[in-house]
Amino acid sequence: MSSEHNWEKLHAETKVVAAGRPPKKPDGALNPPISLNSTLHEGGPIGYGRYGNESWSALEEAISSLEGGQTLIYGSGMAAISCVLSLLPHGAVITASHHGYQGTTTMLKQMQESGRLTVRFVDLADTDAVLAQIPGTQMLYLESPINPGIEIVDLPKLISAAKAAGCGVAVDNTLASPMVQNPLAMGADVVIHSVTKYLSGHSDLLLGSTSTNDPALNVRLEQARRYGGAIAGPFEAWLALRGLRTFSLRMKKSQENAMDLAQRLVKDPAISRVRYPGLATDPYHERAKSFMKGFGAVISFEVKATVEQIDLMCNSSKLITNATSLGGVESLWERRRRWKTESETIPENLIRFSVGIENADDLWADIQSAMAAAKIS
Ligand SMILES: *Cc1c(COP(=O)(O)O)cnc(C)c1O
Repeated sequence: MSSEHNWEKLHAETKVVAAGRPPKKPDGALNPPISLNSTLHEGGPIGYGRYGNESWSALEEAISSLEGGQTLIYGSGMAAISCVLSLLPHGAVITASHHGYQGTTTMLKQMQESGRLTVRFVDLADTDAVLAQIPGTQMLYLESPINPGIEIVDLPKLISAAKAAGCGVAVDNTLASPMVQNPLAMGADVVIHSVTKYLSGHSDLLLGSTSTNDPALNVRLEQARRYGGAIAGPFEAWLALRGLRTFSLRMKKSQENAMDLAQRLVKDPAISRVRYPGLATDPYHERAKSFMKGFGAVISFEVKATVEQIDLMCNSSKLITNATSLGGVESLWERRRRWKTESETIPENLIRFSVGIENADDLWADIQSAMAAAKIS
C-alpha cells in the first residue's frame, strides 16, 4: 500500500478516500486507470491478465485498508467463496450455518452430496452448539449477522475457540461490512465480501473479495483465482473503487435509517416480529453491542398476513423495490421464501429489507401505503 500515509492512524472515512490512488507525480492521474489488457510486455511482476491487473490492485489496496491483511478480488462474492472452499482437502469437515446466505448453503449442500466435503449444518447463533462441533472440524464458516435471519453470532468467542483448537475460520462479512466489525482483528483466517453489496453500493456490478493476514494463505488463494479463473473485470473493479469512496457516508446513513424504521416497525400491530440487533428488545442486542461498532442496515420482519398479501405488499411499494440483493443506495425488500433455495427455517412471512439512504419519513410512508394496498392492518 502507498507509503505516503500512516494507514494505522487513519480512520475508515479517510481510508476509503485516500487508498488505491496511483503514486503522486506532476500531471499524474488521481484515479487508477481501467486497465483493459490481457497481454503485458514480458519481464514484469504480473505477466498476464489473469494473474493481475492495475485496476484490481487499486481496489484490493482500498479493501485491505478497511479489513486489514492482503486482499484479492474475484468476479463475484460466490467466486470468492468457491476459491476459499476449494482450498479444503477432499472430504474435509466444515461447520456452517443451517440457514445462512442461500448461495453458500446451496453450494455447501451440493459439495456434501457429491462427497467433496462433509458439512455440519448448525445454528451459528447457538454458541454452545458451535463449540461442540469444533473438535474434528477443519473449518468454521461463519457469517454474522446471518442472512436473512439477522441473528448475531458470537464472533470473538467462536473465532478464538476455533483458533485455539487449530481449526481454520472464514467469515463472510458482507452484511455487517467493515464499518461495523473486522473479523481479521478477532483472529479469523480469512474475511470474505460480496463487494456487490455495501462496498460498491450502487447495484451496478458483481465482485467478491478475500482478505487475510496469512501470506501463505493469500498465495494459495491467488493460485486458486489464477487457475480457477474466477477473476474480476477491470471495469467492475474501477467502478467498485469509485463506489467505495462514499462507503462510510452511505453506511452511516443506511444504518441511521434502519434504526429509525426498525423502531417504527416494532410498534406496528400488523408486524409480529422485527429482527434488528439495534433494537433493545432484540434477543441479540447485548451480544451485538459487545463487539459490533453498529448494527448494520438490513432488517428482517414478519408480517401477520397471507403469503399472497405479503407478495402484494412487496410489489405495491413505490420507492422500495421488490428485488433480491442488498447494500445499495436504494432500499430493496423481498419475501425470502419466494426462493426455493431459501432455508425452511426462515418463516414464509419474513421480509428482508435492505435499507437505503433515502429519507426515512418517505420510506415509512411508502411502507404504510404498501401495507394498505395489500389490506394489511
Ligand atoms: C450476496 C451475498 C453473497 C454472494 O455474493 P455475489 O456477489 O452475489 O456472488 C455472499 N454472501 C452474502 C452474505 C451475500 O449477501
